[in-house]
Amino acid sequence: MVKSYSGGMMPELPEVEVLKRNLKKRLTGARIEDVSITKPHILKSVKPHFTALIGKSFKDFERRGKYIFFDMDGLFLVYHGGLSGILDLRDVPTRDTSFYLKTDRGLLIFRELSTKKTAGIHLTENPETLPFIRKLGIDALSVDFSPDYIKNRLRRRREWIFNILRDQGFVSGIGRAYANDILFEAKISPFKPGKRLTDGEIESLHYSTRIVLKRAIEAIERLYGDSLEIKEKRDFLIVYRKKDQPCPVCGDTIQWKSYRDYAIYYCPSCQGVE
Ligand SMILES: [Zn+2]
Repeated sequence: MVKSYSGGMMPELPEVEVLKRNLKKRLTGARIEDVSITKPHILKSVKPHFTALIGKSFKDFERRGKYIFFDMDGLFLVYHGGLSGILDLRDVPTRDTSFYLKTDRGLLIFRELSTKKTAGIHLTENPETLPFIRKLGIDALSVDFSPDYIKNRLRRRREWIFNILRDQGFVSGIGRAYANDILFEAKISPFKPGKRLTDGEIESLHYSTRIVLKRAIEAIERLYGDSLEIKEKRDFLIVYRKKDQPCPVCGDTIQWKSYRDYAIYYCPSCQGVE
């Protein structure tokens, strides 16, 4: 039942962006009447206490990288789904519910679909003071993520560009799924050291990042409508998990290389990998 989560699928910017948009559509203005904590490990902060949310309303929702900030009258709930977190709006809690907010539009449920407990919620008066938020690099869809920014930040980096793209301190929102398609779209080898990228490749990487993420957001919106249960169904990606299939651009066979506990996918011809 939880098979799709055992491989360590993590939501990335497109899934989190659609979740944020749907939360905004469905919950802006809703009032919190009660708070229930059934599995306290999901709560990663102690002050202010979560009961401080009672009586507050949802003002806005903001996304930063893979995090969502729920703005509730000066209090912010900061959420990261990790490998298994799912949100849901229902009338009754499910067995796998860790935490829920009773609102005048139903129960906003925070569930964890696997035994790997990696979802987390923080409550804070200012998300910018949280150490893991301060460490985040520019958001991948921010206008500040420019070719100049990329060029400056790649200057001293010898690691594979694939791994640099996944570094949330370099750019936030991209993980081990979308990095494959961004580099395919940009026609750059995932194994090229960051500092060796040419100016042309940097321009192309910048453009491809935006185009791949925006296309994914549109595809996810078509798949899920205004649901909050957004899963990592990424069949629309071109090289990610498409091992041994023909490249739609050149017809060559899509390859993969096993790296740590996951795989990197690429087209050897389009991306110049020998
Ligand atoms: Zn190709």
